Amino acid sequence: MTSELSCIATCIASQNPVIAFLNYILIGIIGISAFALIVFGRHFSLKTNFLLKSAFLTSLFLFLIVLLFATPASANSLFVYTHTSLLLLIVGYFAFSYLFAPFIMRIGLKRTANAEVEGIITEESKNLNIKKPSIFVFADSQASAFTVSGIKKAVFISTALVERLNKDELKAVLTHELLHLKGNFFNLKRFFSSVRAGFFGLIPIQVEELDILAEDKIDESMPGEKQALDRAREKL
Ligand SMILES: [Zn+2]
Repeated sequence: MTSELSCIATCIASQNPVIAFLNYILIGIIGISAFALIVFGRHFSLKTNFLLKSAFLTSLFLFLIVLLFATPASANSLFVYTHTSLLLLIVGYFAFSYLFAPFIMRIGLKRTANAEVEGIITEESKNLNIKKPSIFVFADSQASAFTVSGIKKAVFISTALVERLNKDELKAVLTHELLHLKGNFFNLKRFFSSVRAGFFGLIPIQVEELDILAEDKIDESMPGEKQALDRAREKL
């Protein structure tokens, strides 16, 4: 056991000074971002939350990759085994995120109940003839609304946006989000988002461009609510 532990220390620390330095920085980022997310996660804005999650995942991935190439052939078997298992876990995460993206998205967000939003979603899903997605109203001071898909589809909307909109505007925004779920662009976006998420954002795929295309299409399909939607957009 002592030799296993000393191998872990040796393998991380004394490859060569540059790798050791890089590893300590990565361990630092992993530790700080994990601590911040666990302790203060609920107080951060969505954007900060995103940033911390990607900092955590990217550092973890880089750390494992560095170890994969830096571990000497003579390294202790337990260390190599642990490391390989971790890499497999990361690959597993790619698949997991594709299937459970809405669940992952909810981590660190504080859910609040809102009967009005729930009611609109139920009614509009019926009107649009789509399966009712789950709706997640989360406490945040920034106005935002978006859709996420996994095994189950989900619409996310922040309390700040709900509070700023009147009933017509709220209905227009929620219908807009439901149309995202219904549209063809959404599956394409989900696929590319997963590829990007799979590589922890390291591959620069411009998912946002698909969004712009989808926005125009959705606007065309709900001309009656255009004014309410434009007013809502101004409040974003
Ligand atoms: Zn949109």
